[in-house]
Amino acid sequence: MSALTMTGVRKAFPDTVAVDDVSLHVPHGSLTAVLGPSGCGKTTLLRLIAGFLVPDAGTIAFDDRIVAGNGRPMPPQERKVGYVPQEGALFPHLDVAGNIGFGLPRAERDSDRIDEMLDLVELPRVFRSRQPHELSGGQQQRVALARALAPRPSVVLLDEPFSSLDASLRESTGRAVARALRAVRATGLLVTHDQSEALSLADQVAVLREGRLIQAGSPADVYLTPHDPELARFVGGATSLTGRSGEGRTATCALGTVTLRHPASADEVVLVIRPDQVVLDPDGVEAHVDEVSFYGHDAALRLTTGSTALVARVPGPSAPAAGDTVRIRVHGAVHAYPAPVRD
Ligand code: ADP
Ligand code: MG
Repeated sequence: MSALTMTGVRKAFPDTVAVDDVSLHVPHGSLTAVLGPSGCGKTTLLRLIAGFLVPDAGTIAFDDRIVAGNGRPMPPQERKVGYVPQEGALFPHLDVAGNIGFGLPRAERDSDRIDEMLDLVELPRVFRSRQPHELSGGQQQRVALARALAPRPSVVLLDEPFSSLDASLRESTGRAVARALRAVRATGLLVTHDQSEALSLADQVAVLREGRLIQAGSPADVYLTPHDPELARFVGGATSLTGRSGEGRTATCALGTVTLRHPASADEVVLVIRPDQVVLDPDGVEAHVDEVSFYGHDAALRLTTGSTALVARVPGPSAPAAGDTVRIRVHGAVHAYPAPVRD
């Protein structure tokens, strides 16, 4: 049984269908990342689950109990949902203990529960009496999570909780939040527009595009077998090239002959090549290095071969320089999709 089941859920506003026929299972105790660009319906999806919005069609169930879409919707306060909103998460006039205890019964507000929650989100207990403005952004987000988890909700919803943090704090806060959710076996939905955050933190990644659920699967599934070329570009930063399928599981393209993961279903195909599949090889095809972004352990190269532009990720120490000519080939099997029909 899933902790949360959405079936054919739809929500339209006067000029947009914000959530369009979404069906999704979230298993007990797992973390699902809802990934998609701004405006694709992520917040609307969370608000439907929390009960702040009512679906136009479809059902939402917690365990096997339908909370929306079948008779009177269950009001938000009865749903036992923890919500960490996008920003302005803490009550500015309450100290940390006041914030964490906000949703608890009065008797529990001064109990050990506050310390337990501070331990869980890896904040020192002396922070109890701090005011929100005395905390860093990452610490505030941890308090917001502690507040959401304190009443032991059945589902925790986090709406881009790290978007206001800088890159390094984002990563460490993200890991701490995922650890805290796992420690209490909470069922979580984490909304993000950041694919590396989704892939690194979640058990399941659900990709939304214009209100529709394009793919839901493990991070490896979504990264290695993306539903379509657009998703491959979005999740893996992949390049798509046109190609012709050849003998057996091969195709020819601007990068020479490549091996296909599955037999091609058409003569003309779109090949999706991830940056980590483009390797430097003296026997490969010639390419011009247009730009190099050096990250230390690796480097991203923007390359052109003929009229084809693509990105490669190579080990940092051996990265060529902008302006160099290199030889490249594709390493490993690639995904082929039927080419769109031209009219
Ligand atoms: P995301 O969180 O992925 O950025 P949202 O769920 O906030 O996306 O919005 C999805 C779409 O629905 C957008 O086009 C947005 O403008 C529209 N939308 C969201 N909330 C409302 C609302 N209350 N009234 C009208 N349109 C809305
Ligand atoms: Mg949003």
